[in-house]
Order: sequence, then C-alpha cells, then structure tokens
Amino acid sequence: SNPVSKSGDIVKELEEHCATPVSKLKQIADAMTVEMHAGLASEGGSKLKMLITYVDNLPTRDEQGVYYALDLGGTNFRVLRVQLAGKSGIEYKEFAEVSIPPQLMVGTPEALFDYIAAELNKFISSESEKFRHPSGRQRELGFTFSFPVLQLSIDSGTLIRWTKGFSIQDMVGRDVVAELTKAMDRQGVDMRVSALVNDTVGTLAGGKYDNKDVAVAVILGTGSNAAYVERAQAIPKWHGPHPKSGEMVINMEWGNFKSSHLPLTEYDNSLDAESLNPGEQIFEKMISGMYLGELLRRVLYRMANEVALFGDTVPPKLKTHFILRTPEMSAMHHDTSPDLNVVGEKLKDILEISNTSLSTRKTVVEICNILATRGARLAAAGILGILKKTGRDSFRDGELPNTVIAMDGGLYEHYSEYRNCLENTLNELVGEKLAKHVKLILSNDGSGIGAALLAACHSQYI
Ligand code: ADP
Ligand code: MG
Repeated sequence: SNPVSKSGDIVKELEEHCATPVSKLKQIADAMTVEMHAGLASEGGSKLKMLITYVDNLPTRDEQGVYYALDLGGTNFRVLRVQLAGKSGIEYKEFAEVSIPPQLMVGTPEALFDYIAAELNKFISSESEKFRHPSGRQRELGFTFSFPVLQLSIDSGTLIRWTKGFSIQDMVGRDVVAELTKAMDRQGVDMRVSALVNDTVGTLAGGKYDNKDVAVAVILGTGSNAAYVERAQAIPKWHGPHPKSGEMVINMEWGNFKSSHLPLTEYDNSLDAESLNPGEQIFEKMISGMYLGELLRRVLYRMANEVALFGDTVPPKLKTHFILRTPEMSAMHHDTSPDLNVVGEKLKDILEISNTSLSTRKTVVEICNILATRGARLAAAGILGILKKTGRDSFRDGELPNTVIAMDGGLYEHYSEYRNCLENTLNELVGEKLAKHVKLILSNDGSGIGAALLAACHSQYI
C-alpha cells in the first residue's frame, strides 16, 4: 500500500480523535462548572483546587508610590517596578526579563531562590535616580508565583506541588514567601513581600485596573490557568471572616481539570505517562504552550515510523522529547509561502530532515492545525464554564452583564491561529447576543503589574 494514503489515514484518525464539536464543548463547560462547585464546597472536593487567594479587593486606582513585582512563570522570570500615580494610572514602569536556567528547575529551593534574589538585587542596584525611595521606607514587592499554592494569608502560602517543567521536591509544603525572604536576606536585598499572588490573580488585578468589567483572567503561556471573582457566599469551604466587598478571587488551577468528555488521544496518554507529573494537569497538557509542540512531535514520530513520512529512516532527532517547541510549531502553522519554506527550514534546522516534499510539509501544517484548534476550542469551553458558574451567561435585572476576560501568556499573545480560533469558538459557544457582551483583551504583562498593584493595596504603610 502506498505511504501517502496511509499517512492520510493517521491524520484522519487524529482529526477524529481530536474533534471538538459544539455539543462536546458544552459538555466540557458543564463538567467544568460542576467541578468548580465541588472545589468550592470542600478542600479536596475536586481535581480543581479552587484556591482561596485572600484577594477580596482589586485595585481601585487610588494606589500611589513605587512598587516592585517578581513574576516567576514557567520559562522566564521578570522583575519590574511601577510608579503609581492614583487616578492618572501608571506613571512609569521598567522591567528586566531573565530566563530560568533549566538545572535550577529541578535543583534545590536555595539555588532557585538565590538566583531570583540575586537578579532582584541587580535590578535595584541599577535603579535610576527617579526611583529613589523615601528614606526609612522599605521597598515592597508583589510576588507572582505561577504554581499551585495553599495560601495562608495575602503574604504567605505553601507550595502544593510543582507543574510545568519544575520539580524541586524539597520545596513542596514550604512557604514560598519565607523561602524568598530568606534568599533576599542572604543576597542583601532589603525588601518586604507584601503580596503573594498567582499569575492569574495578578492578571485579573492588572486587567481590572484598566477596565472595570474585567471579572475573569486566563493564562495561556507555558502552562494554563484561570482566576475569577466569586461571591463569598458561594464558597462553602471559606470559614474566615466575611469580606467587606462580599467577594473573593478564586484561583481555579484549571490546568488540573479532567473529564471523560475531553478528547484524549494516544499521544496525550503517552505524553502524560512520560511527564514529570503523570496523571496531573491533563487539561493543561492539551492546551498550553509547553506541550503543543511536544504533541506535534509525537504525531510526527509515529508517522515517521509507521508510514515513512520522512523517508526510509526515522530522523534520529525526532526521538528527542520536547525538541519541537510551540513557537516553532506556530511559525510552521503560520507559513503562508506557496512552497511552505518556513516548514521546510524548521524541519531542517530542528530535526535535521532535509528535502521534504510539499505534500509532507502540508501534512505537518495540517497536524499543527488539528492540535492548535483542539487546544483553543477546549480553552474556550473552559471560559464558557466560568461564565456559566458566575451567571454571566444570562440576564440580570433585564440585561446581559458585560464581562471582560483578561488574557495573558506567550501562547495567546503570539500564536494568532490559536488566539483567533479561541475567540471565534467562544463567540460560537455563547451565541450572537451574548457575544456582544463578552470580550477578550490581551493584558500584556498584567500578571507582573497586577502583583505590584496588589503589593500597593497591601502595603505596610497604609
Ligand atoms: P510563562 O508562561 O513562563 O510565564 P510566557 O507567558 O512568556 O511565560 O509564555 C511563554 C510560553 O509561550 C512559551 O513557553 C511558549 O510555549 C509560548 N510561546 C512563546 N512564544 C510563542 C510563539 N511565537 N508561538 C506560540 N507560542 C509561543
Ligand atoms: Mg507568566
């Protein structure tokens, strides 16, 4: 039998297994809503942790002064400084970005936090005159830490577990702020961590600062997660004092969502089984930037073996896990040249496969499209689940509420096929009428700025 039709069979099978018709997406949204209720009802009630963030007030634009933020994501970390000028907003901001050396992701807590504190030290040391701090006043920092944390207060919390590429077992169960504070002491940085926030919560705060209708934040970067504003009354597991605002921000940790309705394939199953955290973060592994390129590699690897997609031998590089990164996948997916030259170059540069035929290149693009489409549509279903849980999908006092969803993360920002598909799918899911009231906005750097804003709200000097 000829390899072309067989290769077509594998692609067709992939397409079928990845299918996300609207009916399925609605089931997934409903399952998300059910899990949200369960996670809010009791600690450990669901795979969705629905973490209480101790953020019961979002920034109001009364905030004044200079504040700092540290944003530790999955790939990079950013240090930033903002000058807040009340109603006139952010007067000045400055940031530095450093990538995290891979060995530090699987080393010791001390090594990781010393590295971070040292970068922070560099940043402050090179500070310009205009940031001179009022004397006698300690610098204050919002720490964006994008991993699941059981928060004990706004400025403390213990790590539940690592996700993405991190695995530093000694850190699990320890207070993240205490570790950072100790490292700052060792590095001679005099700063107080005023707020510990998840990146979703930072994005929500940063988004709300710009637009009062922001009620939900979603991250699509290395990993994926969401946070939203919940009524305190709707959180049975919260036994603390009733917040004045009547509201509490919930960090869903939606990356760990799982449902029998999710269209899982053999590629997802093997990726999960061979990952650092098998059985966990199943939703994240289907939709986020760390994994899309790796799923693509797995499909190509099978096709190289079974239908000789790249000729008689299996290209050795194709065996290497995570060799195909999502930015590369995105570049291939967006290739508009008639000969698919970008696809050809990427296959050559990354996988050392030369002289690919146009039909092979087309197959690669088709697979990118299937995987990105599935991811984007599932993310849209997750958002629909939040709209349903909060009643933002239906009339209130005779009107449909306006909901703005603050989006952040490199995947959403740079992968336009993914972003457009997500937006179109959300419109399709909510229907024409509601679509006019639901808006996605890119909240660039929102997670860091939001943390600085929350540090300001929780300053020791107010
Ligand atoms: P983090 O999630 O680590 O906080 P970012 O929000 O900057 O960091 O997201 C980085 C991730 O975004 C990368 O790991 C990658 O998966 C994805 N990404 C970055 N650039 C692109 C791109 N051009 N196309 C697709 N995905 C991208
Ligand atoms: Mg981030």
